[in-house]
Amino acid sequence: MRKKNLRDEAEELLAADQIETDEDLESESILARTPLPGDEEILLPSLRPRQFNEFIGQSAIVEKLRVFIAAARERGEPLDHTLLLGPPGLGKTTLANVIATEMGVQIRITSGPVLNRAGDVAALLTGLRQGDVLFIDEIHRLSKNVEEVLYPAMEDYHFDVLIGKGPTARSLRMKVQPFTLIGATTREGDVSAPLRTRFGVVSRIDYYSIGELTRLIESVSARLQYPVSPEAAGEIARRARGTPRVAIRMFKRMRDVAQVNKCQTVDLATVETGMQMLQVDRMGLDYIDRKILDILLRRFDGGPVSLDTLAVSVGEEADTIYDVYESFLIQIGFIARTSRGRIATRAAWEYFGMRPPEPPVTQNQLKFDE
Ligand code: ADP
Repeated sequence: MRKKNLRDEAEELLAADQIETDEDLESESILARTPLPGDEEILLPSLRPRQFNEFIGQSAIVEKLRVFIAAARERGEPLDHTLLLGPPGLGKTTLANVIATEMGVQIRITSGPVLNRAGDVAALLTGLRQGDVLFIDEIHRLSKNVEEVLYPAMEDYHFDVLIGKGPTARSLRMKVQPFTLIGATTREGDVSAPLRTRFGVVSRIDYYSIGELTRLIESVSARLQYPVSPEAAGEIARRARGTPRVAIRMFKRMRDVAQVNKCQTVDLATVETGMQMLQVDRMGLDYIDRKILDILLRRFDGGPVSLDTLAVSVGEEADTIYDVYESFLIQIGFIARTSRGRIATRAAWEYFGMRPPEPPVTQNQLKFDE
């Protein structure tokens, strides 16, 4: 559904004017994958969605989880271990919090890169109470020894620790209260197979529709008590790349523009001005997206180019290009991932008002033409 909207949009906007890029503005991208200063305002416990009825969109996942949660509560058991997949900013952490609230339990939040020693995860596990949720973000980045503590803990609620060294070392079995592990990852392919098979529920969070993001912006506007016109909410939603975190940040920047211009409401004119300032075009592409496409088209004739080469040419981390930029450019059909590397699609060439190069003429074709 979402895909179709964006594609249609892409076609309509093929002739759209490009906004000049200014590399000095790169430092604080609206697309940053980690929280920016000011994001917290919206993350205060009283403001973020706490229950399913406040969580916008993702109806298939929400319905499924409601059933599993009701059943688990009826049996007096924890919810099955759950793996949430999807690009940054789509609500994986939020959903984990909602699950904990709906289960009526506490949540402990950590992330793969932070838990680097087996002892760290052991301490976390023994601190859990009956039914608690342990949320591990970026779970694909867990080290092997941490994963090995988790396996028996997830399956049988115990793990073994080795005490002492050498011949006197002995193994001690520690019990863990029944708990739910919720793992989140942007990299499905990097989750090890043994870890993945231990999750009973696997849910993929998809990009949000423009309608869903419009609702989100209207609700954020109400919570921040800064009105937004329906057209302006729709226009921000259209440029927010299907991502709630981006939509919220964009709304807040538009509110700044409105406030400085003494405008009581975020209206369409405010959004036009604000988006020019952010260098976000009508498709939601920012300067880095345009830089990626420009390099792919002009320097590499449309590809194929490896992710690493692209990242070096753009001057961004390969992980960021992969998670934030490329996944959206693929979603709107501007880039394709092939076994030989990334290639630009016809839509990307057209968006830049350029012609794709002619395919090389083969010997056979030459003979045939003659
Ligand atoms: P992720 O963990 O996938 O990177 P987050 O859960 O941190 O994403 O969500 C980013 C921001 O978007 C948060 O401020 C959150 O409150 C908001 N958000 C995400 N999904 C939703 C949703 N479905 N409804 C309302 N707000 C949402």
